[in-house]
Amino acid sequence: MKSPIWGEFKQARDDVHNLGPLQRIGKETKRYRDDEEVDYCIVGLGSAGGVLLQRLAKAGFQVLGLEAGPFWDTERDWVSDEKGSHKLYWNDLRITGGTDPLALGENNSGKGVGGGSVHWAAFTPRFHPSDFRVYTQDGVGADWPISYDELKPYYELLEREIPVAGPAYFPWGDPHGYPYGPHPLGGVGDVLVKGCTKLGIRVCAGGPVAILSGSHGDRPHCIYRGFCIQGCKVGAKASTLITHIPEAIRYGAEVRALSMASRISMRNREQANGVFYFDREGREHFQRAKAVIVSGYAIETPRLLLNSACQGHENGLANSSGTLGRYLMAQAGNVVLGRFPGLIRMYKTPPAHALTEEFYETDPKRDFARGFAIQTVAPLPVAFAKQMMVAKGAWGWGMRRVMMDYNHWATLGVLGEILPWPDNRVELAEERDGFGLRVAKVTFNLHDNDKKLIEFGKNKVMQVMHAAGAEEVVQEARYAHLVGACRMGADQGTSVVDKFGRTHDVSNLFVCDGSVLPTQGSANPGLTIQCLAARTADYLIAQGTRIFTSEIRDMGTPPVRRELAVKDSFTKGVPRLR
Ligand SMILES: Cc1cc2nc3c(=O)[nH]c(=O)nc-3n(C[C@H](O)[C@H](O)[C@H](O)COP(=O)(O)OP(=O)(O)OC[C@H]3O[C@@H](n4cnc5c(N)ncnc54)[C@H](O)[C@@H]3O)c2cc1C
Ligand code: SF4
Repeated sequence: MKSPIWGEFKQARDDVHNLGPLQRIGKETKRYRDDEEVDYCIVGLGSAGGVLLQRLAKAGFQVLGLEAGPFWDTERDWVSDEKGSHKLYWNDLRITGGTDPLALGENNSGKGVGGGSVHWAAFTPRFHPSDFRVYTQDGVGADWPISYDELKPYYELLEREIPVAGPAYFPWGDPHGYPYGPHPLGGVGDVLVKGCTKLGIRVCAGGPVAILSGSHGDRPHCIYRGFCIQGCKVGAKASTLITHIPEAIRYGAEVRALSMASRISMRNREQANGVFYFDREGREHFQRAKAVIVSGYAIETPRLLLNSACQGHENGLANSSGTLGRYLMAQAGNVVLGRFPGLIRMYKTPPAHALTEEFYETDPKRDFARGFAIQTVAPLPVAFAKQMMVAKGAWGWGMRRVMMDYNHWATLGVLGEILPWPDNRVELAEERDGFGLRVAKVTFNLHDNDKKLIEFGKNKVMQVMHAAGAEEVVQEARYAHLVGACRMGADQGTSVVDKFGRTHDVSNLFVCDGSVLPTQGSANPGLTIQCLAARTADYLIAQGTRIFTSEIRDMGTPPVRRELAVKDSFTKGVPRLR
């Protein structure tokens, strides 16, 4: 077929972007010339990069975001089809190894404006206060250079801004409530609640999840079609593509999509002066910048810094400590599948809508440190088929029989804290990508504490599944949510960046994304990553132009700039009586 009967397909346009049926960016994104020097060049417009772009543009900086993937027009580019949505992921070559190799690809990061926030399930629990002092409290892992109290105002801000739906009272960590009311329970949520209730485990239903339970400005509420991980075409699920990027563009930021950063360039040994990148035709360009922020995800950020090795930084940029790429973490994400006599219909809600954090903290009665959460998962049929292939060995006619039964199955997940270990790391492989850049090699090994935690967590979820009435229970071992590899710390000898994301070695080079996390708790990391981005932006704004020239580091806490939150964040939502 040369052209469809209703007209020709149009080329992608950069001046109009539909983001769901109601939201539209009608303003062409600014275009800086190659010889213009911007204030900030942000590499990667995902969970962190999107928030940074919006905050810095709104504060009046000249800011440009280089994004390797496309700038999605959700009405044109997205389909309500599980297989057809795989282009949302970073599927480029990455090499995996170690004793417990991680599956790399659709289970890790996104590629395109919005990054991983486009395909996340949008579970948005906060980290617990204990997560920030793991070493002091439990003698394992590391302490953060900041406390929970320093991040708390950002949790409160972002929960209203993106916004988050959840219960009026969330009992774990630092107990709090949510600005939007909870979602109704689906079949999988029913299973979790029933199983936990039978076993006397406290459980929370309807969130916390960054999905609208009521309409919000030009975003409609959730219609419970279950396509969250495929990119919510409705616009009910938060992603920086629809929450922060539109306002960034309105305030004059440039989104330069299909632009793959290849190397950070140095003016001298102490200062960066811009970023080399390949455009959509594979031509190399140089973008001048007074400061650079790398927000490329826990694999691509260390890869870019390692690929930027140069005279004076022979082992990679910002790697004087030798820790660049090390302390990579993934959360244990074992999936437990249970078959029920009655219909479950797991696709009929957002996959993320109920959880328990009852096992989150270290329990001296157990033989391992730290803990895990239990969450609803609810895969669509293709993902379910893959899980059944691993969990039950289903294949051929056996697979067809299992798939005919899809509506009777429920899926719950462990989300377990794996500790940061130096041998879990990102390095450069010998293999190269289409631009000739060395790709990332990821090594991952489980240690004793991790194995004990996973075994305990998996068995606990199986107990919950049985208590809910499952007649058959199987499980698949897997991992979720990669973070770390450029960790923040007060000690320059054991970390890559300081508590604001500034690299210890290069005064105008920042890292701001999940790679800076020293530990990961057993909460999904996306909300914390966006909070850290808003905090780094507040720091940069408070420092003003000193960042571009001065090597003096002011470590004072910046004021929380609530007025920079996305417009109308504070006037929407279900009012709560306090
Ligand atoms: C299936 C799935 C479900 C998830 N569900 C949840 C959830 O429910 N809750 C939660 O909190 N988290 C969830 N996550 C994890 C969450 O998506 C990530 O933790 C988060 O998006 C990471 O943010 P980031 O800013 O570090 O990187 P990203 O959001 O991945 O952004 C990085 C961006 O940088 C771009 N980039 C990388 N390298 C370059 C380069 N060299 N040049 C230009 N651009 C570049 C990438 O294309 C990408 O857009 C999920 C992840 C997956 C895979
Ligand atoms: S279930 Fe709700 S949030 Fe998820 S894709 Fe559908 S409309 Fe979007």
